[in-house]
Amino acid sequence: MNHTIPGIEKTRTICGYCGVGCSVDVLTKGNRIVAIQPAMDGPANEGALCVKGQFAYDYVQHPDRLTQPLVRRADGELHPASWDEALDVAARGFLRAVEQYGRHSVYGVASGRTPNEADYLMGKFMRVGFGTHNIDNCSRA
Ligand code: SF4
Repeated sequence: MNHTIPGIEKTRTICGYCGVGCSVDVLTKGNRIVAIQPAMDGPANEGALCVKGQFAYDYVQHPDRLTQPLVRRADGELHPASWDEALDVAARGFLRAVEQYGRHSVYGVASGRTPNEADYLMGKFMRVGFGTHNIDNCSRA
């Protein structure tokens, strides 16, 4: 049975929290998420969701949500920055850490949502670029 509620739009998508890939229906009113429902025909979840997938969507419209990179400047405060600047700052920070504390002072963590190819590149980046085996995946966290 397919109920529709006036003013509520339903969008089928995949939960982004972990690698299981549960199918969800996101209910929106205007630009706001008002609920998430499990997709009864989702091949990975068959109508079930964990608490994160079902209820943890407030961050999407939370006023504290980060919408652009922030870089800490000389005044000690975080300031909005472009992605190019933020990535340059991050790269310099990695290099400084390795110079000061050695190659095992850095650590790479892949997302549980990344495909094998991206995980392979992240592992190679850490092993070849920094010379460390300090790599992991957020699915273990
Ligand atoms: S198990 Fe939970 S977090 Fe993972 S995809 Fe399903 S609902 Fe999302």
